[in-house]
Amino acid sequence: MKLRIFGAAGEVTGSNYMIETAGYRVLVDCGTHQGEDEERHEGENFPYDPAGIDAVLLTHAHIDHSGRLPLLVRQGFKGKIYCTHATSELIEILLRDSAKIMKEDAEWRTRKNARKGLPAVKPLYGDNDVEDALALRSYVPYDEVFEIMPGLKVRFRDAGHILGSAIIEAWISEKDEKPVKVVFSGDLGPLDGVIEKPPAVVEEADFVLIESTYGDRLHKSLADTRAEFQDAMEAAVRSGGKVLVPTFVVDRAQRMLYEFKLLQKKLPDLKMANIYLDSPMGVKTTEIYSAHAALLSRDLKEMLMNGEDPFEPRGFSFVRTAEESRAINAMDEGIVLAGSGMCSGGRIMHHLKHSLYKKDTHVFFVGYQAYGTLGRRLVDGAKKVRIAGEEISVKAKFHTLNGFSAHADRGDLLSWASHFPKKARFIIVHGEPKSAESLALGLKDAGYATRIPAIGDEIDLLAPAPERAEMPVISKRILDRIDFDTKDVESVLNMISERTDEMREKLINNDEQYRNIMPLLISARTLLETAAALGAGSAREGKG
Ligand code: ZN
Repeated sequence: MKLRIFGAAGEVTGSNYMIETAGYRVLVDCGTHQGEDEERHEGENFPYDPAGIDAVLLTHAHIDHSGRLPLLVRQGFKGKIYCTHATSELIEILLRDSAKIMKEDAEWRTRKNARKGLPAVKPLYGDNDVEDALALRSYVPYDEVFEIMPGLKVRFRDAGHILGSAIIEAWISEKDEKPVKVVFSGDLGPLDGVIEKPPAVVEEADFVLIESTYGDRLHKSLADTRAEFQDAMEAAVRSGGKVLVPTFVVDRAQRMLYEFKLLQKKLPDLKMANIYLDSPMGVKTTEIYSAHAALLSRDLKEMLMNGEDPFEPRGFSFVRTAEESRAINAMDEGIVLAGSGMCSGGRIMHHLKHSLYKKDTHVFFVGYQAYGTLGRRLVDGAKKVRIAGEEISVKAKFHTLNGFSAHADRGDLLSWASHFPKKARFIIVHGEPKSAESLALGLKDAGYATRIPAIGDEIDLLAPAPERAEMPVISKRILDRIDFDTKDVESVLNMISERTDEMREKLINNDEQYRNIMPLLISARTLLETAAALGAGSAREGKG
């Protein structure tokens, strides 16, 4: 009975795990590698035969968790894809869009190749593969245990990350043995979720696969983020020009519409221009969000019950057709939300092209900008950029708001993890090595055994649990060389603890610095705590 890791190990994208027993092979997620991870994995095949997979359990709709499902089906997978109802609706939008982007990308590469006398490029999958994959969806309710097949029971719990996102609890058994319980966190939302509920508390597990996207960082507080948004928006309104908000149109766009609504309530006299969500995909997604009111947070449900639409600020309209979208370019004012979130395509491109050169344009970045994207170049202060073959001089003002995250931060992850019993073993995935290591230290601090797997690793689910959490390797090595007095270690430990808290306060407002220094502080603290524990032990031994 094994858990095999095929993606999102030491990286953030490409989630793909396999539960393998004598009786079946079931995948959890089947995602695409994106951004920097994409190049590293380009051209890779599945390291297993898709025809030999019995079922897929899907945590949520994001492409880095679902994007390779059509390829899996194209290569012979015939089982069911289990997911929540909202996820089953959102993947329809996201997978069709993914096929469209792949087709355009393949056509562009083909033209480029043709000029060099190289062969045509085919997309990984096409529209019909997407439809074949969608036909295999089987949706499951939250919070109910059901048997997928003999030896595998599962329960989907709300993960609070995007609509329909799930934590999956799996009870795995072979023959008539007692089942082993594995919990897959999927992507977890923040504990103070805004449009989604907080992630469900799970209290029992033998193994927990936990994401670590922000395992080494704390987010800016909600109050600070909103204050920042308000200040920037007031500045933009005063300057009177266009406001462009490049945004991922699933979840982040809905969150921003809600934030605009709240800001209008708070500042009823602020003369905000009309607001547009310029994306047919965004329109459909917003409709799906509104249709699943029961999954939304208490605040949003209350609003809906009072007959108010949380996704419809004053002066708002959806933009569906390309003509309507072009008409907005001719206007001097307007707040335009459009994809893609990193300015790597989509309708935001023509809005940027028509407005970046104007001084009174304000661009709001409300999500992560990966290296190599136009969004990142603009954030980094590029003075000239090329859009659709034309060089544009950049005069607009930029506002980068990092607080609108749909992910749990370090504090949230450790808090969610703290509900598991100490026998639970944590397998840390879905994070850069630095984040994963920092989260591992935090979990070890709390007394849990941890492992950061590499791609291709197999975890024996029947291996006996370690007696106690393993101490960090580095501490033992260094401690051997220290001749310490217990009292000294304790006083140094207290000092470091106090300093850590002080620095946390100071650094929390500065993301980059915080990100680099916090893991070091945490390591230092763990090291000293280990030293204190070992010191106390050796002092006792000395006396005995
Ligand atoms: Zn996600």
